[in-house]
Amino acid sequence: TMDYAPAPEDDQAARAWLARHDASFGHFIGGRWQAGGEGESFTVRAPATGEALAQAAQGGAADVDAAVAAARAAQPAWLAAGGARRARHLYALARMVQRHSRLFAVLEALDNGKPIRETRDLDVPLVARHFLHHAGWAQLQESEFGGWAPLGVIGQIVPWNFPLLMLAWKVAPAIALGNCVVLKPAEYTPLTALLFAELASQAGLPGGVLNVVTGDGRTGAALVDHPDVDKIAFTGSTEVGRLIRAATAGSGKSLTLELGGKSPFIVFDDADLDGAVEGVVDAIWFNQGLVCCAGSRLLVQEGVEARFIAKLKRRMATLRVGPSLDKTIDMGAIVDPIQLARIEALVQTGRAEGCDVWQPAQVALPAGGGSYYPPTLVTNVAPASALSQEEIFGPVLTAMSFRTPDEAVALANNTRYGLAASVWSETIGRALDIAPQLACGVVWVNATNLFDASVGFGGYRESGYGREGGREGAYEYLKPIGWGKGALRETAVAARLASSS
Ligand code: NAD
Repeated sequence: TMDYAPAPEDDQAARAWLARHDASFGHFIGGRWQAGGEGESFTVRAPATGEALAQAAQGGAADVDAAVAAARAAQPAWLAAGGARRARHLYALARMVQRHSRLFAVLEALDNGKPIRETRDLDVPLVARHFLHHAGWAQLQESEFGGWAPLGVIGQIVPWNFPLLMLAWKVAPAIALGNCVVLKPAEYTPLTALLFAELASQAGLPGGVLNVVTGDGRTGAALVDHPDVDKIAFTGSTEVGRLIRAATAGSGKSLTLELGGKSPFIVFDDADLDGAVEGVVDAIWFNQGLVCCAGSRLLVQEGVEARFIAKLKRRMATLRVGPSLDKTIDMGAIVDPIQLARIEALVQTGRAEGCDVWQPAQVALPAGGGSYYPPTLVTNVAPASALSQEEIFGPVLTAMSFRTPDEAVALANNTRYGLAASVWSETIGRALDIAPQLACGVVWVNATNLFDASVGFGGYRESGYGREGGREGAYEYLKPIGWGKGALRETAVAARLASSS
């Protein structure tokens, strides 16, 4: 218990913004608000309480078409403005996020259900960092990416777990390099994307460079199918990623997919066990476990297994689950009752398969209309069981032991995913020997969930392909000059330049 609990974050500014819009939102297309063409809308709720926050428009094919047309119309001038000019816009967007950081943090926490401490200290600063970093690439575009051109109009579809951060990961590199964007946020969490688009416009971003069309999977599918989109960048489930891959096959559209994961968290017997326990807390209970690269499979070496599990259980009992604006909580609400039901069903499958499911009795869940799930540890899990293989996407950790480093590698790679891994050992040589044997996009040593705009992030196998962030992420929004329209002319110019030098 705490003798001093800080007051919950004041949500007045976010409420005032909702009220200014009568809690009813259209799409943001061509630099202004536009009512949804088909009049259909859906309710956006606060997962912490179930309260209705707003109505948002369900985008139809006509809305998507208007947004793609606005992006297409804006793109030549946006490209012609040049890298230095675009860099100034990205710096302005970063400052805009910093200036309104509190409004963004509160609105995101309200809409998503995650702790305000997380949106305030992590999501929003990283959003600003992505715009700053990519301002740098815009500035250097002519010197660093000579021979490369932007793709044109990009359709971007993002999930609900990091709504604003996923916007930043996608929008910053795309527009920095001279593309224009149509973004479709997830249907549970469209609010910060709408706020971002509105404030970006006030910060001088030309109309049509960033368009936001809200709606569910049907809106996403309309964007994927639109003939005038040059590339789709998608983050979400492996299942929908597969649909999008099929839908774009043979269309000439570029595609990057950031999909699910089932990332291992490997603890060797010479690890700093207390440090590793904190690592687990961050790996699987950060953002309620609603993290694509969550360390959801604990693999612990046999000799320290019992000690480690005992320490972990003691730590789990101290976690606090509560409403998103409470500054003392470790875990917030699950984004929607549908996702909560998915988690409950998978854990039920685990029980039926004979796993042991443990939840600390000390952790109370808030009463009322919110969607909450306690921190959960599952032991006695067979490697082939559903809980070992399926992405749970919730605050549920499975634990298994291993004997030798080879066995750790084999268990870690026994998955159809390949997004991330975390290795804990005080013998750095051992950690660095294991790391390259793990089939995944990122390996953290004695750490977890470290992200930066300058480092490419992405997966292998069913975790998708393509990278976001850094130089490698920039190339995902460029094509070599000589591709497509004007190729012959560009090739001729390049040949002339080469022969004259
Ligand atoms: P989801 O695939 O259901 O939805 C993601 C987005 O796709 C939403 O905007 C949704 O409206 C849209 N969508 C749904 N059906 C569509 C269709 N047929 N065509 C086009 N768009 C469609 O995923 P989710 O449940 O919202 O998100 C959770 C998943 O996202 C998890 O599997 C998680 O691992 C993954 N994820 C991956 C990363 C990563 O970087 N690899 C990051 C965050 C989340």
